[in-house]
Formats: sequence, structure tokens, C-alpha cells
Amino acid sequence: MKAGLYLHIPFCKSKCAYCDFASFAGQEEKMAAYAEKVQEEIRQKALQYPGTVIATLFIGGGTPSLFPPEMMENVLRCLHDHFVFDPQAECTCECNPGTVTESFLQVLKKWGINRLSFGAQCAQPHLLHMLGRIHTWEDVCASVSLARENGFRNINLDIMLGLPGQSEKDVQETLEKALALSPTHLSCYGLIVEEGTLLSHQVEKGLWQLPDEETERREYALCQSMLAAHGFVQYEISNFALPAFPCRHNLDCWRRKEYIGIGSAACGFMGNVRWQNPPALQDYLAGMPSDETVISPEEARFESMMLGLRTMEGVSEKDFLAMHGVSLEKAFGRQLKKPLQEGLIKWEMGRVFLTETGLSLQNRILVELL
Ligand code: SF4
Repeated sequence: MKAGLYLHIPFCKSKCAYCDFASFAGQEEKMAAYAEKVQEEIRQKALQYPGTVIATLFIGGGTPSLFPPEMMENVLRCLHDHFVFDPQAECTCECNPGTVTESFLQVLKKWGINRLSFGAQCAQPHLLHMLGRIHTWEDVCASVSLARENGFRNINLDIMLGLPGQSEKDVQETLEKALALSPTHLSCYGLIVEEGTLLSHQVEKGLWQLPDEETERREYALCQSMLAAHGFVQYEISNFALPAFPCRHNLDCWRRKEYIGIGSAACGFMGNVRWQNPPALQDYLAGMPSDETVISPEEARFESMMLGLRTMEGVSEKDFLAMHGVSLEKAFGRQLKKPLQEGLIKWEMGRVFLTETGLSLQNRILVELL
């Protein structure tokens, strides 16, 4: 049985102003214990899901590139000792510019990591500073160049849109500079100001002004047109790739394929059980149990729609029937009528997918499907 594997490395140099991920700064002294605990979980998960062939691996965080190379090597060796990897497995590691070293990249290369994802975000120093990022655009260029020297060809850059004070010209300049680095993939995310973050307090105090919806819409449209002109195909709301380079790990998640999650805060889903490991570092290290939920057939069907409709390929009738034992027509035919009539959804060639207008109204459509 094939599955994905997500491995969470929660350490960061400092906390970015907008970040509400399960990541921690100033906890370097816990790295060694974490590496041990993760290996313990790898052994336990391998016993729990024997015979699983890893089709995709995604090492995310946090800042995985902050993990000392020898610890990363121990973790990767342990993964390969206990799981079988598909020879064509896509294996990604997230890296932050300014934290990537040659020895770290060599360890990744040695253990089959064949895709890197850099949090580049934007090219303007004042915006990087506002976000609390620890790097400059020059660091992005240096890290990508080091990655290439070490044999990495499949490279993603994360870019942020909708930032306070970000102009369309800034977005254009960032994309031009990003494209000049010849990535195979670009993830362009709109900023979400999450409650409790430093940025949300600053916005509340009036320190930063968020762009209006129209500005955000124009930035997104600019992104779509510039990337299309450079041969990138949009395959999900925020993701663009050169042909043959969409992120297979994320695509499998949106197709609701199973994945094993390992590490603090990591989520996983196998069969009809979904789990989340303890998000707090000390709880994970103390061996607190994960939070498990049994997914009902109705929830599973809704998940397929919710995830699949994020992608341009949409939800396949055939895959839906194979996964849920009930046809798409029977499960959602009635609820789909209205968005179909309104031109928000199309049902063609055995697939249901959102139209361009539907993409911007995705949340409303999902509420109707519920
Ligand atoms: S590097 Fe990423 S995970 Fe770490 S604090 Fe910044 S946004 Fe959060």
C-alpha cells in the first residue's frame, strides 16, 4: 500500500510576525531529544503500518534546514531503515534562506531528497522586515545557488501576496526576481492575519494597513498572468508549476490519499482514522498521545470535495466512487445543482471542478455542499 509521509521539524531561529504554525524559536537545546523521539515514532509507525511504501516524503516545519546535519541524517537513515521508499518517490525538504549549509544539503542528497522548497516570500527588504523574516533576497539567491551546486534541480519558492504596504509593482518585482532563479514551482499565498500573532496585534494597533480586496485580487491576477506567460501551469488555488513539476505530495493530499504524520503537531490519516500529534514540543517529547478521530463516511465524502475543489483537476467521478463506494451524483448531485446553474462549478469529462468565478467563492460553495 502506498502512502505519503509528513515529517515535522518545529525549530526556527526566530518567530515570524505572521506565523501561527507549530514552530518554536530558542529551543535548540531540545533538538537532540527531538531527533531521538522522532526516530522512536518512526519505528512505532512502521510497525503500525507494515508494508507501507512511501510514495512522497515532505519534511516541513518550522525550519528543517536549521536541524543539524548529523541529526537530520540519523532521522533520514531511520526512515529508510524502517520504511520502503518507492524508487520514484518525490522527497521534499523545506528550507529557509540564510539557514542552508552545504553539509545539510549533502545529507539531504545522500538520503534521496530530490525537491527543495524555500520560503522566499518577497524581494523588498522593508516587507521582509515587516514579516519578521530573518533573511534578505540576496540570501534567497545564495541558498538557491548553493542548492543547484549540490545537484538540486526541483526547487519551489514560496511567495506572499496581500501584504500590508505591498504594491503591485512589488509583486511584479518579486515574481521577476523569483523567475530569474529558474524555479520549477511557485507557491503564491495570500497573507492571512491569524489571531494572536504579532502581526495581528500590530494591525489592531493601526501600525499596518491591510490591502483591500480589490488590490489583493489584482495582485493574484498579476501572479496568474505573469506565471502563465513563463510556462507555469496553475494546478491549485495558490500553486503553479512547470509541466511535470506539480508537488506530488500536496496533490496526493488534495486527492485525499493517505499519509503518515510524524513529529510534533504532525497530522496523519490512514484508513478511517485521522490523528494529530501534540503540538507543544514538551508534550510531544514527554510522549503524550496523539489526538485521534474516526472519520465517518459522510465526513470522508465531504473531505474529498473540500480538498479536490481546491485543485484545477477537481474531483474525479471514478476516483470518488472507488474511494467511497458511492457515486458523486448520489452523494452531492442535489447540492451541486445550484452552483452548476450559477456557473460556479463545471461537471465535464467525469470531473467536477470550480470555474474561475467559483474559485473566488470556494468557501460559499463548500458551505452549500455541507
Ligand atoms: S520560518 Fe516559517 S515556521 Fe518559522 S516562524 Fe517563520 S513562518 Fe513560522
